[in-house]
Amino acid sequence: MNLILIGPPGAGKGTQAKILEDKYGLKQLSTGDMLRAEVASGSDLGKKAKDIMDRGDLVPDDLIVDMIASRMEADDCKNGVIFDGFPRTVDQAQALDSMLSEKGNPLAAVILFEVDEEELVGRLNTRVEQAKAAGQEVRADDNEETLRNRLQVYRNQTAPIIPYYEAEDMLSRVDGMASIDEVSASVASILDKAKAA
Ligand code: AMP
Repeated sequence: MNLILIGPPGAGKGTQAKILEDKYGLKQLSTGDMLRAEVASGSDLGKKAKDIMDRGDLVPDDLIVDMIASRMEADDCKNGVIFDGFPRTVDQAQALDSMLSEKGNPLAAVILFEVDEEELVGRLNTRVEQAKAAGQEVRADDNEETLRNRLQVYRNQTAPIIPYYEAEDMLSRVDGMASIDEVSASVASILDKAKAA
């Protein structure tokens, strides 16, 4: 079973992906986490991605699609994948459709996390203050200015994948502002329906 979580940065996709990994034995593939690992390792891809990520812009589609395609070959993806932060453009969505149909392993569901953007900015500021107070490192793109750019990029470049998946009759929506348990219950009921279909 493969599924996609869509939503602006800070909507809670990562938190839900981790819960789903345990519950359904799926593998979370977060392109953001994968790219941060590339940056930390100093790879060619990491060098190309770093400044783009620091600004909150999108890394070019071909680099992302190649990265995901090779990652999906690994054994831990056999049971299915939760795509978290991918696809982020219609071109990426089309590339994913062809990858999955080649493997004969279609999407079970696409779940959109609907959120209030101003509340996301508030949540980010609280998270950053808490991390700083605890002496933890803060991500380079975790600041209000970059978040506002990432939200704009989401609206302009990522939101068009919503009608794309609606047209495929794949899209379900959850209230991303609800509590973690409530969101998780909504996601589970969407997946149970998808599995039964
Ligand atoms: P995230 O942790 O998902 O918010 O991703 C952090 C940053 O990595 C984003 O702001 C982008 O610069 C880059 N990134 C992550 N996933 C993608 C993607 N699917 N396409 C393009 N850029 C991405």
